[in-house]
Amino acid sequence: MSSPIVVLVTRPVIAATATLNAGRDLRPADPGYLSCDPALASVSVRDPGVLRGDGIFETIGVINASPRALDAHLERFASSARMLDLPTPDLVVWRQAVLHAIEMHGPTRELSVRMTMTRGVGSGIGVEPNPASDTRSPLTSAWVSAEEVRDFEDVRRDGLRAVTLDRGYRSDVAVTSPWLLTGAKTLSYVVNAAALREAKRRDADDAIFTSSDGFVLEGTTSSVIVQHGTLVRTPGSDLGILAGTTQARAFDFFDRNGFDLGYGLIEAADLTTADGIWLLSSSRLAVPVRRLNGVAIAVDKILAARLNDHLLGEENA
Ligand code: PLP
Repeated sequence: MSSPIVVLVTRPVIAATATLNAGRDLRPADPGYLSCDPALASVSVRDPGVLRGDGIFETIGVINASPRALDAHLERFASSARMLDLPTPDLVVWRQAVLHAIEMHGPTRELSVRMTMTRGVGSGIGVEPNPASDTRSPLTSAWVSAEEVRDFEDVRRDGLRAVTLDRGYRSDVAVTSPWLLTGAKTLSYVVNAAALREAKRRDADDAIFTSSDGFVLEGTTSSVIVQHGTLVRTPGSDLGILAGTTQARAFDFFDRNGFDLGYGLIEAADLTTADGIWLLSSSRLAVPVRRLNGVAIAVDKILAARLNDHLLGEENA
């Protein structure tokens, strides 16, 4: 494994002056990021990202130095920032910082690049003015890191064992309780990690969350696709789940190969009759589920190989 790369993002959000001077390119020569020795990179013990998981992130899969779905990741980053009332990220700077981290890392087949932005020290816990309304003095801590991905070949080919776990929220939670931030990619993955440990206790490798009213949601770190014959379906992103970039790329593959696509409510009971269940994410890519709640699920190894070849291939292939 090669050494990780860290790039500090020194101009992570759009400054008020940029709005005032709209139409004129007043960007300073400073690119807004700088490389940093990973051994020296540190975050304050007072940072809300550390203290409360108050921040956002993205993990981007990079194959042979080419980032996959970079636009979609940047857009989701901005959307997460909006949901948390964080200042608006400067996506031009973030894009360049990501590309710089990839370049700094040097050639490797599969790389994982992570963008992280916290609310930053001094931003208050809600009693002070909302930093989103004061873009002149952005307080966020922001960085990009790049690290080689472990070899996922076996799990992409052979699949994994999953259990369903009730997340405890109804499928309409995003509408009824937006403050739960269910569709944002926040730094607080403590619940997801606990679900993963519960899956291990149940002799499985991963968990698929279901809503309290009985619908399929998402994996602990992945989107779910359910296959019945030539129909592949995924839960709609209005169900308080992340809109998966890998799921979208997988749907391109299924579409080109004559499958019908469906988005929306999938009853948890439908999992038991599925011809295939897939977990999709940027680094692990497409992983078939081979056992669900202890019951064997068919794995089409040829389809799994073709789907992962597509996800590993060129962006527009
Ligand atoms: N859902 C959750 C909860 C995730 O953590 C992730 C990825 O980390 C995904 C879905 C899949 O998103 P993507 O395919 O964009 O990596």
